[in-house]
Amino acid sequence: MHHIFQRHCHSELPIAVKGEGVYIYDQTGKSYLDASGGAAVSCLGHSHPVVRAALHQQIDQLAYAHTGFFNTEKAIELSEKLTHAAPGDLNHVYFLTGGSEAVESALKLARQYFVEKGELQRSQFISRKQSYHGNTLGALAVGGNELRRKPFAPLLMPTEHISACFAYHGKDASESAFDYGQRMANELETRLLEVGPETVIAFIAEPVVGATAGAVTAEEGYFKRIREICDQYGILLILDEVMCGMGRTGTLFAHEQEDIQADIVTIAKGLGAGYQPIGAMIASSEIHNTISQGSGFFQHGHTYMGHATAIAGALAVINAFEQEALLPRVQQAGEILQNRLSECFKNHPFVGDVRGRGLFRALEIVADRDSKKPFSACSKLDSQIKAKAMELGLICYPMSGTIDGKNGHHVLLAPPFIISDAQIDELTEKLFHSVDTITQTLF
Ligand code: PLP
Repeated sequence: MHHIFQRHCHSELPIAVKGEGVYIYDQTGKSYLDASGGAAVSCLGHSHPVVRAALHQQIDQLAYAHTGFFNTEKAIELSEKLTHAAPGDLNHVYFLTGGSEAVESALKLARQYFVEKGELQRSQFISRKQSYHGNTLGALAVGGNELRRKPFAPLLMPTEHISACFAYHGKDASESAFDYGQRMANELETRLLEVGPETVIAFIAEPVVGATAGAVTAEEGYFKRIREICDQYGILLILDEVMCGMGRTGTLFAHEQEDIQADIVTIAKGLGAGYQPIGAMIASSEIHNTISQGSGFFQHGHTYMGHATAIAGALAVINAFEQEALLPRVQQAGEILQNRLSECFKNHPFVGDVRGRGLFRALEIVADRDSKKPFSACSKLDSQIKAKAMELGLICYPMSGTIDGKNGHHVLLAPPFIISDAQIDELTEKLFHSVDTITQTLF
């Protein structure tokens, strides 16, 4: 029972007792460099004094007030900061408790928008094969992770999945990066025409793909073409920034770097930085106004949405980004990390790609660099690398995902924004040792 329901309570796992800066300490005093921020969450590191103080103060003052009865000053301030930074007219914030809740809410909001407009025939979404949008049923349906979807397939709403823009696996040697990006984006148009654009609610995608493929950025021009197609066929664009947002790629919103506007954006992880569970969906004025001038009410809601303590924590987090000039540091440290990793793994026979943006990076592990052939699923490469890294005092996020039906392995890195250059060296050395030891044993 314990194993199934509390996967983080396996008896063999160390007991986490303390966190400080980029390190977590276990019951024996051993330190672990948290190079993945858990699951790309702890962007400020552990035990940040300002966030701790803000949380204490909020709990002393007011821990929770239901959003059906009250707003809070901090919720208004946090909303203003988020909408001020978000491109376009993303002016309306809806606070939730995590990523899946944010995605579920976005899917429902998009559907209700068209219901209010009388376009009731719109009933499906289009998303991408290499994607992860959460584990609740709606989010799982739009996600492309076959392994996670399989047991629940009969319960998932029908969703169309197109290819992701994933140059390492998809680009032909003969085409330019730009042409490849356009070709991938045009898959959306082809699919829309196949299913009938008037039946589609929205296209949903991660601006930088996280869990399922490992820090995969799109080619320049890809998202602009996606936006054009969405506009041409009258469907909404939902960008899921639950993992890649909140400064992780060097700008508060990852899609700022794509120079496009979304209709709805979802955020979570870095919003609370692990100090509190919180997520949010930010919607355009067009969507907000259509509903408020129509039925007047979004048919949705959760008990803990807009939780006062979570909001206070998130506000302190975003203030720390500004006060400590962390976003420029993410860009600088991200380049350093990329250079160190590229240098270190450039001749490694089993590391096919080192990629990402900002402090969101990944290695792709392959059995053969030329053919990009993956190791087999039975190699359990991800759990072995994870265990070896932990033995060496490093937390990284190795995962397996499916790439065109084949198993693929990558190691995701999402260290806290406060990581120093010396700690980047420590990360790289420990990661090299872990990946090298485990891949060598497989031959
Ligand atoms: N969307 C993306 C892009 C994610 O990476 C995740 C989680 O990894 C989710 C949604 C789901 O978030 P949560 O685990 O907070 O429900």
